[in-house]
Amino acid sequence: MDKEFTFKGGIHAPHFKEQTEKMPIEDAIEPKYVVIPLSQHIGAPCEPLVAVGEHVKVGQKIGESKAFVSAPVHSSISGTVKRIELHQTPGGSKVKSIVIESDGLFEVHESVNPKGNIEDLSKDEILGIIKDAGLTGMGGAGFPTHVKLSPPKDKQIDTFIVNGAECEPYLTADHRIMVEKSDLVLLGIRAVMKAVGVKKCFIAIEKNKPDAIEEMQKKVEGIEGIEVAPLEAKYPQGDEKRIINAVTGREVPSGGLPMDVGCIVDNVGTVATIGNVILTGMPVIQRVTTVTGSAISNPKNLYIRLGTLFSDVIEQCGGFSEEPGKILNGGPMMGIAQFTTEVPVIKGTSGILVLNRKDANVPEPSNCIRCGKCVDACPVHLQPYLISRQAILKRFDDAEKTYAADCIECGSCSFICPAKRPLVETIRIAKKEILAKRKKAVK
Ligand code: SF4
Ligand code: SF4
Repeated sequence: MDKEFTFKGGIHAPHFKEQTEKMPIEDAIEPKYVVIPLSQHIGAPCEPLVAVGEHVKVGQKIGESKAFVSAPVHSSISGTVKRIELHQTPGGSKVKSIVIESDGLFEVHESVNPKGNIEDLSKDEILGIIKDAGLTGMGGAGFPTHVKLSPPKDKQIDTFIVNGAECEPYLTADHRIMVEKSDLVLLGIRAVMKAVGVKKCFIAIEKNKPDAIEEMQKKVEGIEGIEVAPLEAKYPQGDEKRIINAVTGREVPSGGLPMDVGCIVDNVGTVATIGNVILTGMPVIQRVTTVTGSAISNPKNLYIRLGTLFSDVIEQCGGFSEEPGKILNGGPMMGIAQFTTEVPVIKGTSGILVLNRKDANVPEPSNCIRCGKCVDACPVHLQPYLISRQAILKRFDDAEKTYAADCIECGSCSFICPAKRPLVETIRIAKKEILAKRKKAVK
């Protein structure tokens, strides 16, 4: 465990993981009804395959798109489709969703069958299974996994990185998956390596999870081509370009993708789910989510049926221990603030974080003192203070020239700034304007 992989920049934020890091994954409540959004991913939204009044079963495909960049959705319970309507989602927008009332039976659909041995499956069969099961990046990104695993022919992929960094404070779902579901992680790795045709895999884990490192090392011992890469515990180690740089030394160019440097990166929760799909045939209908924070009575790591409302999950955790100041889908650095708990858990819900008023308090910003700390912290080597100023002055063309579009919105600059400037918030505005301008130009 002596060797340590890392990258330049980033911050050492407090981890705040002690509330749940040792807590085994528990099954969440069986919801009385679920809300399944038809778009939980990057790409084309699904069209419903069921009608109001229809009976559905667990694992049944209920939404699909013909587009390649998309991912189908499945029912997580058995019961009756009550409504198909616009519903608020944790992504911040309203999305057409299928509302299903449970019959309490959890009857499994006939299409759910084990997929057999990986040795007997062809590369295309594995990719087809992953696509059909609705796999998307479960770290929060939501990119359809089968697309990521199908790079163009001119991109030679030689390395698969399993992202077990989980660098966001508070979150421990991936940690527990590695400790408790290492068999599924290994099965998922073998499936991806065969599907992509790579011979080298790194399981990259931050060193603040020694039990996960030990468990995964035990699991891969003696297996050629797969090794554990212990990472320095530093934020945003889990960003895919940072993790590639830390593990392989390669730099993904500005505007480039991991495949440009021969790598594919998948979150460890996604990889374990691929293993589960192969083993049981059950598509993505559940996920492990950390429910934690200073205003949650009994923090837990829960295995939750997708579509369960945050309010039901929070109730299972004993409800609020005090008045919440902020509710987030995800962690404190990149999570999305929620104005209601009547939103469903989706494929990318890695955490439900509820902070009390004291922890959620955002101090008043003061003037920039030109200390340069934000520049040192930026893992993309940007000048956050400058881009932020350009954004405030609406000088978006200047912001484009200073590479605002390369910002990964990690929030390291805002975290480190002694003047508490709203850096990531303002840079995000510039980035949005630049990307909208580029999109218009393409059209
Ligand atoms: S400018 Fe963007 S990438 Fe750099 S530290 Fe700030 S949020 Fe992160
Ligand atoms: S860290 Fe804050 S105060 Fe220091 S240069 Fe950056 S914006 Fe200014």
